[in-house]
Amino acid sequence: MPEIDLVVSGSVVTPESYQEDAWIAVKNGKIVSIGIGDKPAAERSYDASGCVILPGVIDGQTHAGSQFGFAGLEQTTRSAVAGGITTIVDMPYDQPDPVYTLQIMRDKIAAIEKHAYGDVALYATITNDSDLSEVGLLRDAGACAFKISSFENHPSRFPRIRNDRALALLNLLADTDVPTGLHNEDQEIVRATMAEFVAQNRTGPEDHEFSRPESAELVATATFLEMGRAAGAHVHIVHLSSPAGFELVRRYQSDGVRATGEMCVHYLHFDAAEDMTRLGTLMKVNPPIRSGVRDGLWDELEKSGAEFVSSDHSAWPLERKKVKSSFDAPAGIPGLETLLPAFFTGLSQRRKDAPRLAALYLSERPAKFFGIWPRKGGIQVGADADFAIVRNEEWKFDASQTLDGLNWSPYDGEIFSARIQATFVRGRLVWNGTQIEGSPGHGVFIPRLPS
Ligand SMILES: [Zn+2]
Repeated sequence: MPEIDLVVSGSVVTPESYQEDAWIAVKNGKIVSIGIGDKPAAERSYDASGCVILPGVIDGQTHAGSQFGFAGLEQTTRSAVAGGITTIVDMPYDQPDPVYTLQIMRDKIAAIEKHAYGDVALYATITNDSDLSEVGLLRDAGACAFKISSFENHPSRFPRIRNDRALALLNLLADTDVPTGLHNEDQEIVRATMAEFVAQNRTGPEDHEFSRPESAELVATATFLEMGRAAGAHVHIVHLSSPAGFELVRRYQSDGVRATGEMCVHYLHFDAAEDMTRLGTLMKVNPPIRSGVRDGLWDELEKSGAEFVSSDHSAWPLERKKVKSSFDAPAGIPGLETLLPAFFTGLSQRRKDAPRLAALYLSERPAKFFGIWPRKGGIQVGADADFAIVRNEEWKFDASQTLDGLNWSPYDGEIFSARIQATFVRGRLVWNGTQIEGSPGHGVFIPRLPS
């Protein structure tokens, strides 16, 4: 009986190197050794010759429960593993109540163990009148970050948090390394501008970016960064739609504030002027995808403001997107099965080192940010055996074949140059390139490790 459960072989991306003709040995779901050339004997082997073996993707921003509550974890994680994502970091804004008490978090952890195909880490939140003593309990229970919003997306599920409450939360987390993320849009500016647009009958998809002006985003971002300075806490902006936002983050970083920004892949992929007429509300996200900033956003990846890249996957059924006024369509797009292919393809087109940078922005950096490194995020001895195996091949993305239960995507019909050949979660093959091999309940909750 061999000592090793599984050997996976191919070109391996580790935190330090890119190694062809390499192998990874797995025992009890963990990586026990990595080598080159002759493979050790193992009970099972997976030959990924001609493919790149990346660390499993950690998608730092998903919304599994906006529509279906905790049960949404099932289709979200099924779609995630088909996209090479082995851990999702799920937002707290579930139907009907957000994750703001220890009891709700315990219920969500139980739901993960029942529904999830892959692993799940959790954001938690507060409300405007919740008991702030819950914050320490949520942190101790393993919440990997907190999230609040400066804009009311929904009165109870996704409320706007008052500035005094936001500052109180940051003060509570100031002596920890736990980040607090912000959905960064100024409510008064957005509502007033939208009302003007409605009065002028300008409610088409092409009006969306201008109805939520960049100033609204920058005002909310700057206010939160300033609160981070006041509290001495780690403040994080969960999406910035233009280089000016990242520039603000970098200015605060150079002042010594613990500040970070996050890049969602759709801001790198789409341009409102080019794609909005074609896609309409199918590419409606908030903050909006803007015109003429895409190259500037790619440049931000080379600077310090953009910490990692995520999908911001939201599970809205297509019929809810197809409404008369684009202002009435819900914001958010599916993105789990396109995150790695779209980012990898974009890197390759820009002649960047796609395997290395995909591993850095989609795995290593988010793992460190959410406090789950070195268990997650890198192919190294002692880590969980989470792999995204990618074949370099041109293929046409067909949204009707997706596993997210939604079967639509603004990326439908696009040609990508990276395809997910297989996904392993803790040593188990969960996606074989054409179908799911895993099952609900394989996924586990991944707590933030104590600093
Ligand atoms: Zn989001």
